[in-house]
Amino acid sequence: MFQRIQKLVKREWAGIAFRQEVQLELPHPVVSFTFDDVPASGFENGGRILTEHGFVGTFYVSQKFLNADDPVEYFTREHLSIAVENGHELGCHTHGHIQLSRTPLETSIHDLKNNRRAFRSLLPNLRLSNFSYPFGEQTLAIKKHLSRTYRSARGVGQAINCGQTDLFNLKTIRLYEAQYPLDFIFKKLDEAERCNGWLIFYTHDVKENPSSWGCSPQYFEAVVQETANRQLAVMTVNEALDFIEMKTARPPETISPNFNN
Ligand SMILES: [Zn+2]
Repeated sequence: MFQRIQKLVKREWAGIAFRQEVQLELPHPVVSFTFDDVPASGFENGGRILTEHGFVGTFYVSQKFLNADDPVEYFTREHLSIAVENGHELGCHTHGHIQLSRTPLETSIHDLKNNRRAFRSLLPNLRLSNFSYPFGEQTLAIKKHLSRTYRSARGVGQAINCGQTDLFNLKTIRLYEAQYPLDFIFKKLDEAERCNGWLIFYTHDVKENPSSWGCSPQYFEAVVQETANRQLAVMTVNEALDFIEMKTARPPETISPNFNN
């Protein structure tokens, strides 16, 4: 219980004390499909379904899971290169899938650097511009550190990014089939349309009998099809940030890494 409170306090404090904010004033809603860790089925089924619809997504990968097969089969180098060939974005998670709020800062920084280095040695010229926090866990020091390397970091807070938005704690809507029926997800699309917001979906595995943190190919296909039917703009996280920079009323330097605090 104490640990839960401690984690919550750290996350809340990180949110209050450090925000790289942008006021979203988009001419239309934007949808991003993102995957964490990532299980092989996320690339194979999730990536395939997006490609079939002419869409691209963002895959936040942890080196720890490269070629791993426990408890599920994870990605290989081939998954990464096919994803890049198909225009998908690769982003960073952490190397060891560590909880950043429970790890000493120096160890965390070492881990973050290792992850970037590992993926760049696998795929030279790879751009890794965006990050997602394992378990959504973050601290003030880590947020500041990440802002020097990345354009954004996605948390796990369940909401649509509308209006004032912290780029280093982007909100998300979970595609966890066991918890969120399709009508709940479609209502979130309504909400994004009402506020011209940025709706970032996230999931893990996309397979028959999915884990509690994933969904079936049918469920994923239904969400992608609904997004296509509504003619919503689908972008990778990096493309969405380009679009936000282009459309925001503020000068670009307020979005690019630039901190004095
Ligand atoms: Zn993760």
